[in-house]
Amino acid sequence: MKSKWGSCSPKKNLTINTLLKYLPEEIIEYVIFHEMAHLIERKHNEKFWKIISNKFQNYEENEKELFEYWFLIRTVVNNNKP
Ligand SMILES: [Zn+2]
Repeated sequence: MKSKWGSCSPKKNLTINTLLKYLPEEIIEYVIFHEMAHLIERKHNEKFWKIISNKFQNYEENEKELFEYWFLIRTVVNNNKP
């Protein structure tokens, strides 16, 4: 399962985007938990979101924030290119 912030390979390796380090700690925790949940359930289905909601009741809010941060960080990175 691939996403902008992290991915989980079929061999169960977690990859986390290094840009994540600029984000608030609670969001980092959310991304790591999200990717770890993919070790149990690979698809974004009902079962997956149930696992997520056990720890992050407001996961919809977290997903929304991540989406916004992605555009924000991309803008910052592009502006700093020589
Ligand atoms: Zn996912």
